[in-house]
Amino acid sequence: MELLRLQDIGKIYVSEGNVSVGIRGVSLSFERGEFVAVTGKSGSGKSTLLNVISGMDTYEEGEMFVEGEPTSHFMQPDWEEYREKYISFIFQDYNIIESFTVLQNVELALMHIEDKKERRRRAVELIKRVGLESHMKQKGSRLSGGQKQRTVIARALAKDSPIILADEPTGNLDSVTSAEIIKLLHEVSRDKLLIVVTHNFEQVEKCATRHIRIFDGAVEFDHRLKTAEAVSKTAESTQTNKENKTKKSIKNGFILGKSIFTSKPKLTSFLCIMLIIGTLGVFILTAACGDVGALFEKNYMFEHIDGRLVAARRDGTATSEEDIKKLAEKYGAESYLRCDMLLDYDSYDNMRVPHLNDYKYFGVDFTYGKTYGDDIIGRYPEKNNEVFLNLPISFKPIFGEKSLEETTVIFSDLVLEVVGVKYYYDNNITPECLFTKDGFDVATAISFITARYPDITLKLTKKDGSVSEMHISGIIPTYELQGDKIYIPDEYMKNADEAELCIFSTFPIYNYNYNSNKQYSFNKQFGKEYFVNEPVDVKLNEHYFDSIVYISAELLAKSAIEALDETYRQFSLFFENEEKAQAAAKLLNEGEYVSVTSDTTYTPDPLSAIESVLAAVVLIPLWLAGIIFLAFFVNLCTQRMLAAFKNDMAIMRSMGISVRVIKIGMYVRMLISLIPAYIVTALGAVLIFTSPKYNEYFSYLYAWQYALIFIGMLILTARVTKKQIKNMFGESVKKSLKGGNVQ
Ligand code: ADP
Ligand code: MG
Repeated sequence: MELLRLQDIGKIYVSEGNVSVGIRGVSLSFERGEFVAVTGKSGSGKSTLLNVISGMDTYEEGEMFVEGEPTSHFMQPDWEEYREKYISFIFQDYNIIESFTVLQNVELALMHIEDKKERRRRAVELIKRVGLESHMKQKGSRLSGGQKQRTVIARALAKDSPIILADEPTGNLDSVTSAEIIKLLHEVSRDKLLIVVTHNFEQVEKCATRHIRIFDGAVEFDHRLKTAEAVSKTAESTQTNKENKTKKSIKNGFILGKSIFTSKPKLTSFLCIMLIIGTLGVFILTAACGDVGALFEKNYMFEHIDGRLVAARRDGTATSEEDIKKLAEKYGAESYLRCDMLLDYDSYDNMRVPHLNDYKYFGVDFTYGKTYGDDIIGRYPEKNNEVFLNLPISFKPIFGEKSLEETTVIFSDLVLEVVGVKYYYDNNITPECLFTKDGFDVATAISFITARYPDITLKLTKKDGSVSEMHISGIIPTYELQGDKIYIPDEYMKNADEAELCIFSTFPIYNYNYNSNKQYSFNKQFGKEYFVNEPVDVKLNEHYFDSIVYISAELLAKSAIEALDETYRQFSLFFENEEKAQAAAKLLNEGEYVSVTSDTTYTPDPLSAIESVLAAVVLIPLWLAGIIFLAFFVNLCTQRMLAAFKNDMAIMRSMGISVRVIKIGMYVRMLISLIPAYIVTALGAVLIFTSPKYNEYFSYLYAWQYALIFIGMLILTARVTKKQIKNMFGESVKKSLKGGNVQ
């Protein structure tokens, strides 16, 4: 049976309303072993004939039979498969991939060989056969025309397809090289069907077995010159099972992807850089815009701590420490806090640590079951004047310069020694300040008094009985004064023999769920037995330059705690987890208490809601605009980059490499290009968040946010690749070969 039979084949081109005939009424049949020379004037339809035979162009009329099978019903994938199995194409302008080496170009056609070593061996053998062994590692772009054509021939041989089509293969070569190429072609294709289109019949006369002349799209004559060597070979069954084929396509796709990636180092590194800029840009933008999600955080009435329950007596009376302890035991709370005010305290004015205005304070068992790990610097507090700080790493330079022994913080004018620090990288977490249980009570009591700017007067009495009163602008509580002591600077005492300190303040009842118009007056007098003469050394007092007295922290706290007992009605219980807290809250509410868990007590504070909306209106569009800009940027660059590969892809396709493999190859190349972007971004993130200097300026991102960025980039680049593939494979090979000469 003949290999190919064309029966009344017609091909018409329609472009811009003009109809031109490519070929018409062509009936020809071909056998294996033939060397067919096709000649004819320019524009007569020779190329069209080859394109139709190769399946790179479709035909409109007639029927083409391949080994007896009709092809008029073929769709694109069928043609791809047909080309893969039957066709090797040699063009006038050497369709080799310029950025691939000779070896790579040949190996490309050998992808059906699974074994890497075997593939290499075959490629080298074929390259030797076409006499290019000394140019094996040379890139296509560096070869002469003849060498390029030899590479193409080696590649055609590698494919071992039964049909070799050559469209003016020597059109761009000098006559000596042309003769060599024809001779080589003839030698290597003895058992194949070789169809050569040429201007110059003399050149092929010696080898050709048949001469077909085309005129005006039709066959003018078809001369047999000599009998073709009989070839008995029949196409071997190349049926492979589908699963195997898929696996192979993926494998070949990966090999191809890697080759494409490495073949154009300049372009691919440019692409990598673009993707790095894109990915890093999205990351930095997201981190710099702050946690946009935080804008929608709940506005808690109480500081939310997992398992915290806030309760108060329904009748608005205070609950004693004793009663709270009993409740804690009854409902299985891990710990309790009589005066929990500091947990919900806005500390802006009360804790003077540079740049830090929002602390959480903890005192009960100082961790609520929380562990800060082993990598703490220093230790946990043991005395009342000691604190432990849990801080973002950006604080390290502030505390790190001094040794911990020299480090103090000021809370409500109270100087506290920092005995331990733990730094963390997640700067979205609120810093924490931990006291001992008693230290926490002192701090609570003192902030209770001092936050309300009490009226302080000093009553000075002389020996002669004359009394003078003076206003004091501040009292500074200090742990420097041991016991119940007060120090009045000498300048006030120089004319006095006895002194009395009066602290007066009024404030409302402090209670959850109980509105009281009652005012409580804090009125405390300290007699002469409290005063000492030795000056105290308070380390940080730079904000006082007016009249001040110093008071023992414990003394002030003792007085204030009496007031707290009078006025403080709510308390907190701490449970192992939220569920236990909620169960206890339910039970408590059935009795004489009202209670809520801290996570249920958020209120839609209108002001902060407006703030959130305003911030969202500015921040989110800004972030979005940035992301869209980066996406466009990456899109544009990758599209450009892919366009540069268009011609190569078309060449591969013309070689009959399956579209599937090429597609996989393109995706793989894109994937490989993303790797540096991901690595750089990950390293950038580690660098930013572990170095105190930068940690402060970027809000910490969580794993899911990175995942989102990475997946986003993946989708973006995959989309670009898909689009490119679509516009590359949507058109016929011929068109993309012609139009895609972007190098
Ligand atoms: P040859 O290779 O013999 O020089 P071709 O096969 O390239 O000739 O062209 C045959 C005819 O078909 C010419 O008239 C040419 O203008 C027309 N033709 C070829 N390709 C196209 C095309 N893509 N679009 C429109 N007309 C075409
Ligand atoms: Mg032509």
